[in-house]
Amino acid sequence: MIGIRQKLMLGFGGLLGIVAVIGILTMLQIEDLGQAIDIILKENYRSVVACQEMKESLERIDSGILFTLAGKEEEGNKLIVEYTTDFYSALDIQLDNITIPGEQDMSQRIKTLFEKYINAISIVTRSQTSLQERQSNYFIILQPLFQDIKETAQKVLSMNQDNMTQANNAARHRADSAHRSMLIAIIICAILAMMYSYLLHRWILHPISRLIESTNEIRAGNLEIVLEGGSRDEIGQLSESFNEMVSALRQVRKADRITLMRTRRATEEVFKSLPTAIAVLDLDGRVEVSTETAVRQFGLKPGVLAGSLGYEWLSPMIRKALDENRIIEYDNKNGYMQHFIDNHEYFFQPMVVPILTGSEQDEPAGLALILKDMTQVHEQTELKRSVVSTVSHQLKTPLTSLRMSVYLLLEERIGSLNEKQVELLIAARDDSDKLVAILNDLLDLNRIESGKSNISLEYASPQALVREAVDIFLIETRDKGVMLLNEVSDELPEVVADSQKIRHVFANLFSNALRFTNPGGSITVRANLEQDSVRFSVQDTGTGIPAEHISHIFEQFYRVPEQDNKSGIGLGLAIVKEIIRAHGGEVGVESEFGKGSTFNFSLPLMKKTIQ
Ligand code: ADP
Repeated sequence: MIGIRQKLMLGFGGLLGIVAVIGILTMLQIEDLGQAIDIILKENYRSVVACQEMKESLERIDSGILFTLAGKEEEGNKLIVEYTTDFYSALDIQLDNITIPGEQDMSQRIKTLFEKYINAISIVTRSQTSLQERQSNYFIILQPLFQDIKETAQKVLSMNQDNMTQANNAARHRADSAHRSMLIAIIICAILAMMYSYLLHRWILHPISRLIESTNEIRAGNLEIVLEGGSRDEIGQLSESFNEMVSALRQVRKADRITLMRTRRATEEVFKSLPTAIAVLDLDGRVEVSTETAVRQFGLKPGVLAGSLGYEWLSPMIRKALDENRIIEYDNKNGYMQHFIDNHEYFFQPMVVPILTGSEQDEPAGLALILKDMTQVHEQTELKRSVVSTVSHQLKTPLTSLRMSVYLLLEERIGSLNEKQVELLIAARDDSDKLVAILNDLLDLNRIESGKSNISLEYASPQALVREAVDIFLIETRDKGVMLLNEVSDELPEVVADSQKIRHVFANLFSNALRFTNPGGSITVRANLEQDSVRFSVQDTGTGIPAEHISHIFEQFYRVPEQDNKSGIGLGLAIVKEIIRAHGGEVGVESEFGKGSTFNFSLPLMKKTIQ
């Protein structure tokens, strides 16, 4: 198997090899050229110099002979001897330096001719012979030999010179061919480098980019892709593992899908048979799924546009839930919607819940419309109200005459009373007062809850509302030694309120605060402007409420067990809550056991309420 490492080595090694070959070739060519030049310089040049020297020595010997003929034997012989030696040394060099075909014969011929010439010299230089004879010998014997040697030496010289020229041409030729082969080697090297870079791309880069593309595809959810195998290198193995991984993912997805389908079907079935009317709507308000109850009671069939069913309250709720991205509840005086099914009256509590995408933006992907059947609760509440109302009214008439009688007795109009009788009658009066107050509270609560208590909303300044309430309580608080402080600014904007009802709210809060605050303590009223309301608060320095009871404090008939002796029947705060709710405000409480409590409620600013 050829791995990426081997492929890289092969590529780079190949290139390195080519560079090495080119380098070696270049070196060899240079070496070759150098050697050729060497031969030219060393061999032929030596022959040229030797021949030149031979010619010169011959000329000198000839001069020496002519000296002897001129009677200067001593000088002539000296020259002859001296240059004969020189000639031989040059001839030896030449004979040792045969490089050209035919040169050997010629050199040998020079040697033979020169030996003849040397032997013939004595005939001319011998003093016993007459000058005339010596002269004629010179011209007849020596001169032709002289010419012959000189010419032959000249020929050898020319031969070597020609060879030098030829060698020079050959060297140039070789340089040209070296240049050409270098060029070819460079071109081959470039082609191979290009081929290698192409193969590198094909072997490594292309599969890697395919792999990246495929992972992107998988990220986008496409699990149907298969990478082509091909190579057996690491990338090939990676592609195979990748394919295995994708196939495993496909399996998992298939299994998930089956489970999902099963769960979905089961959920759908369970969902459909839920007793509550629930419909899941898309962003256009079209029903996607719904419970059988929703279909039966409201016609919310899958595919139907919920807005087209004729429920005028529905479209605004859907729009509001989408715009404000929060749960919207049906908003009327008791939160119930009257609905007739087969001529029977039902009461439902509609609610639209945005279904979020779960993404970071938390945008709704749809809506759930929940219609809780409150008919039974409504009937029970109505029954409770009517019982409370009937009983309270029934009790109130005899109680009033009872109270009247007690008052008359106490006024001693019927007859005088002893001390014990007065004491008993005062207790009876206080208890009957308490009973009347309780009955009034019960009737009040009943009226407000049923919406029968007409609230007449007017613009009122927070400062005026508080002042009126505080004024009523000033004497009572002073009697107990508790300070009642009004810290409400008169610069607050007006709120929408029924002044009489708000007085009742303050009266409840003040009487509670006063009941639980010891002499020396204080009750402070404040009011702060909020975004679209004014929040009033009544803070006392009383006993406070234990933490576990705080969340129940506004429930009907709820009393903190430890404070039974000071409490009424636990309706005051429930009435406060209902009055404030009827105004469109909210109530709240903060309290620390042993330190005091702060009750607060908000009243809307007129602008919003009027709209
Ligand atoms: P009630 O009319 O019987 O006083 P409320 O509904 O007004 O009933 O109050 C419910 C209970 O809350 C009371 O029984 C009392 O225990 C507690 N509570 C109300 N106001 C205060 C207060 N300012 N400090 C301490 N406890 C309080």
